[in-house]
Amino acid sequence: MTAVKFEKDAQGVVTLTLDMPGRSMNVLNEALTGPFLDAIGQIERDPSITGVILTSGKKEFLAGADIEGLFKITDPQDAFELAEQFKALLRRLEKCGRPVVAALNGTALGGGLELALACHYRIALNNPKAKFGLPEVKLGVLPGGGGTQRLPRLIGIQPALPLMLEGKELRAEAAVKQGIIHELAETPEEMITKAKAWIAANPKAVQPWDDKKFRWPGGDSKSPANAQVWAIAPSMASAKSYGNYPAVTNIMSCVFEGGITDFDTGCRVESRYFAELVVGQVSKNMIGTLWFQLNGINKGSSRPEGIERSTVKKLGILGAGMMGAGIAYVSAKVGIEVVLLDTTQEAADKGKAYSENLLDKAMKKGRESAEGKAALLARITPTTAYELLKGCDLIIEAVFEDRGIKADVTRKAEAMLGKDAVFASNTSTLPITGLAEASERPKNFIGLHFFSPVDKMPLVEIIKGKKTSKETLARGFDYVQQIKKTPIVVNDSRGFYTSRCFATYPMEGLTLLAEGQHPRSIEVAGLQAGMPVGPLAVQDEVSMSLSMHILEQTRKDLAAAGKPVVEHPGVAVIEKMVKQLDRPGKKAGKGLYDYPAGGQKHLWAGLAEHFPLADTQLPQQELIDRMMFAQANEAAKCHAEGVVETVADTNIGSIFGWGFAPFQGGALQFINAYGVENFVKRSRELARKYGDRFKPAPILVKMAKEGRRFE
Ligand code: NAD
Repeated sequence: MTAVKFEKDAQGVVTLTLDMPGRSMNVLNEALTGPFLDAIGQIERDPSITGVILTSGKKEFLAGADIEGLFKITDPQDAFELAEQFKALLRRLEKCGRPVVAALNGTALGGGLELALACHYRIALNNPKAKFGLPEVKLGVLPGGGGTQRLPRLIGIQPALPLMLEGKELRAEAAVKQGIIHELAETPEEMITKAKAWIAANPKAVQPWDDKKFRWPGGDSKSPANAQVWAIAPSMASAKSYGNYPAVTNIMSCVFEGGITDFDTGCRVESRYFAELVVGQVSKNMIGTLWFQLNGINKGSSRPEGIERSTVKKLGILGAGMMGAGIAYVSAKVGIEVVLLDTTQEAADKGKAYSENLLDKAMKKGRESAEGKAALLARITPTTAYELLKGCDLIIEAVFEDRGIKADVTRKAEAMLGKDAVFASNTSTLPITGLAEASERPKNFIGLHFFSPVDKMPLVEIIKGKKTSKETLARGFDYVQQIKKTPIVVNDSRGFYTSRCFATYPMEGLTLLAEGQHPRSIEVAGLQAGMPVGPLAVQDEVSMSLSMHILEQTRKDLAAAGKPVVEHPGVAVIEKMVKQLDRPGKKAGKGLYDYPAGGQKHLWAGLAEHFPLADTQLPQQELIDRMMFAQANEAAKCHAEGVVETVADTNIGSIFGWGFAPFQGGALQFINAYGVENFVKRSRELARKYGDRFKPAPILVKMAKEGRRFE
């Protein structure tokens, strides 16, 4: 069995079918490129061949590079040669002297699309699931198979840049509109017929860039319109990435430099920029976490084994507020029948209207049809009647954060349920084991902690109570995957995993403020560290009155348990802002920021008076380290305490749950990349200067001694 099937028809047209044995998808590695080179050699030698069709024997065309292989490369020379070899193959294909057509039966991403771009003509099957794009940037690398050279020469520098810088994945129709694919076919047979017709009509096909009369669409890098782009694009990118994503810079450099050189020189330049990224720490962080660990989670690494997969058909949601309404939408979207219950019909209807609103927005953007909207809305039944919950296989409770109310709705709902139904709470702070006491069947009780806004946030934290059974955990896990979110599994403890670690970030910001660091420096440090929002802004979003409320509850609980209360120095700032200054946060229109009606928010001028600047302003890196070490150290503690069991869940939970800098590969990978020993050393230094909260987690001290890292 070979990975590249070679078939020649009576007209001399060769069809090369990529079909790697023993794999569900074609990926670019030696097992494919070896036979491919042989096939090209055969074509070059045989003058009776009139044209070539390239297609795939799998569901998808070609998923991209072999990431496992890429991840292992540590010598830039190896990466450079890998890119050069692939490019040489593509160059031979497009210069073989016969017309070459890509017949794209499914997804072509990354190296898959680069291969297609090296064909003279591209026909795609009109398959609504197929995706086309160059998403390498999402893993910290760049298209190293000539993508940064062919795409801009095909569609123009300006349209090509965002596709590569944002790693956009296009549906077939959009790819046609962008000029990446030439035409669509409705059936595989039609696709091949069209390919053969094109070959017959274009016996002398050459690539635009190999044509002596080639003109750049929209001009090359020196053209006035593009010169303007080059003047601002790098600063626009830096304003978003703070220089943390070298792939962004390198992609721009490839396109810019390629736009002032000939095609082959541009390709050589691209291989060099590619090699730098492949061996760099950022791509190792991103591939390790956002590829390998995420794939592991998606395959069920934290799901109990030996339990059959389940799907939810009918879901009951208690509480149609912000969270309940969002959960209803994402569930109905995947075809689940939803009963949305609140105390009044009006409140329940309002919860359903949330979906209507989202659907209207999607329709305006052309992402939803009128039928799709009607069908989704028909699946949501707003009500006050508990009887309608009969037949639900899952209930998610999202009423007020109050033990009494939660207990009450738990009992009422359970009275309507079959004995196998699962009951989940979306509480953000109350221990699941305690809430399960209101349940007749605590084995079927679990926490499903969503993030706001539910339709945008990709993570759900699944919380195991003391009595939660494996079956219940598996069913919770399956539901989270059913609604296309990523599940991480955590044990029941205060703040669970994400809220506990996340809080250290704004708290450090508040502490810096109390110490007299400039609030603007604090905010910028957060962004420079790679966090999506500055720590003070995020504290305003969470609301300081809510944090105060949780703090007071924690104080009470700890006192009742006879445990000492060790308070973070940031708490004093929250208390002052809420109790003394009456500035509780964004919702109230006043917090650490001001929110002028119709204007842009800005830091509150009064901060200068209430938190006067210290004589010594710390270097920016010191602020960054304090924020990042606080989060990473807490994550290490959670992992050591078994709050979150796997390294993958800890890393992915940090990125998807609270926006921990993706380029660092998550909170534990941050420690790995810093070096565990160095992390311990620096933590001790920070602890000496700023307080015990920076003392390294004992597990890290142990790991440093043993020379271990998080695996
Ligand atoms: P919300 O105030 O927007 O909604 C709560 C809804 O519950 C309201 O519509 C209310 O009418 C309804 N409700 C109250 N008592 C009820 C009862 N007895 N029977 C039926 N419905 C009742 O609150 P929310 O922000 O949606 O939060 C809901 C839950 O989700 C809370 O436990 C909260 O801690 C948790 N949570 C919130 C967030 C967040 O970011 N807001 C994130 C994760 C989890």
